Amino acid sequence: MTFETLNLIPQILHSLKGKGYLTPTPIQEKSILHILEGKDIIGSAQTGTGKTAAFALPILQMLFTTKATQRKGIKTLVLAPTRELAQQISDSFRDYGRGLHLRHAVIYGGVSQRPQTDALCSGVDILIATPGRLLDLMNQGYVRLENIEFFVLDEVDRMLDMGFINDIKKIITRIPEKRQTVFFSATMPAEIKKLSDTLLHHPVHVQVNPPSSTAINVKQYMYFVQRDLKKALLKNILEKEPKHHTLVFTRTKRGADKLVKSLLADGMKAESIHGDKSQGARQRALAQFKTRKINLLVATDVASRGLDITDITHVINFDLPEEAEVYVHRIGRTGRAGAMGIAISFCGHDERYMMKDINKLSGNKIELVATPTLSHSETRQHASHDKPRIYFSSDGHHREGHSSRHGHSRHRERSLTGGHTSHSERRFPPRHSENNHAESNGNSGNGHSSQPERKFIPRKKKWHGKWQGKRSSHRPSR
Ligand code: AMP
Repeated sequence: MTFETLNLIPQILHSLKGKGYLTPTPIQEKSILHILEGKDIIGSAQTGTGKTAAFALPILQMLFTTKATQRKGIKTLVLAPTRELAQQISDSFRDYGRGLHLRHAVIYGGVSQRPQTDALCSGVDILIATPGRLLDLMNQGYVRLENIEFFVLDEVDRMLDMGFINDIKKIITRIPEKRQTVFFSATMPAEIKKLSDTLLHHPVHVQVNPPSSTAINVKQYMYFVQRDLKKALLKNILEKEPKHHTLVFTRTKRGADKLVKSLLADGMKAESIHGDKSQGARQRALAQFKTRKINLLVATDVASRGLDITDITHVINFDLPEEAEVYVHRIGRTGRAGAMGIAISFCGHDERYMMKDINKLSGNKIELVATPTLSHSETRQHASHDKPRIYFSSDGHHREGHSSRHGHSRHRERSLTGGHTSHSERRFPPRHSENNHAESNGNSGNGHSSQPERKFIPRKKKWHGKWQGKRSSHRPSR
């Protein structure tokens, strides 16, 4: 299929050529004609599938061909969860709509409202907004929605996760009933389905990937590692990848800042983005990352969706997300636009209860990797704590034991599918030519350490770790 067969007008075809798009993506193939026919759409599509163009192109075309500029008021409202996504959608409308003379504006919180209200006062055909700031400006009388013809809700699941449900409901009451609605959500849990039922009229369902599945071109790996060794492991991995362009996720803003500080102290160029940073600082960090002035960006989940940076080579979950679906969105930041991507997760002792759901959602595609031997200074520091560590015995069961005196004991890998893995089945990240991101120190690549395997010494202490999910019925056999 070509863009021409989607009945797009020459001006838009010209813009697409300028962007270098050769053919429509599946979500574009499935949505554009329906939207041009005036139908509502409910779409389940992963990030990076080209869904912005799937709704922006037909909306631009319909506004242009119906001479929208001659009608008063805002005709299109796009709601997005984050400032970054709102800005990216706005950039897309600008790029795809070149030469159409439609006016668009983007509004989000965390920045002065003055330029936004100035833009609104000078007339807007397409408004892209985050719910909070939109409601604020509506209450101040700067935004009126009674002329809306197209209503787009993007990343609805994320908006609900972020607590925007009440804002969205208030906004909806101000939009005319007679309108065309496009509703995109990467995942479709029951609550979202219910919301969509109230908003959409006989919608066409479009789905380009099974909901909540991870991209096939992202290789996924997991390390079991103690919390206090995560930094060392991160550095160990990055040192082996001189050309990496890595997005690292932490659970907290403080964690992101602390990690950046530590990376900078080690001579790595890194920046953080999270909700406590000013919009200016976030944009600067993003720009530095996009232009590769820095190759490490540490983010909280504010950046897990919507960020459109095509050449991220690695996503590293320094902390596992509480919700498995967030995992899907995080790792969707890599492997974009057909490229291969690598997602690496660090699972601490206290995070293992999250593993089951994450692995299930990934289609059991996560490969467990043996933890590399870390540097002497780091391991000595670790050994001095002498905390219990988790080992995998040769029968594949995990057990608790003490770290070795020198901290050189290592985990043995185990299939995350639940059963134990025979040696011949064990897979490791391939070597350099095939995305070798995590070749373990001292490992020959076959999963066996060159150091002698330490014998597991069972402890009499009661097992208190968790495995196989929160309601574990799988106590490890002893
Ligand atoms: P999105 O899912 O809308 O965030 O888009 C992901 C990326 O795909 C963006 O960098 C778009 O510029 C790019 N893209 C969208 N449509 C196409 C297309 N038909 N061909 C190539 N790239 C595309």
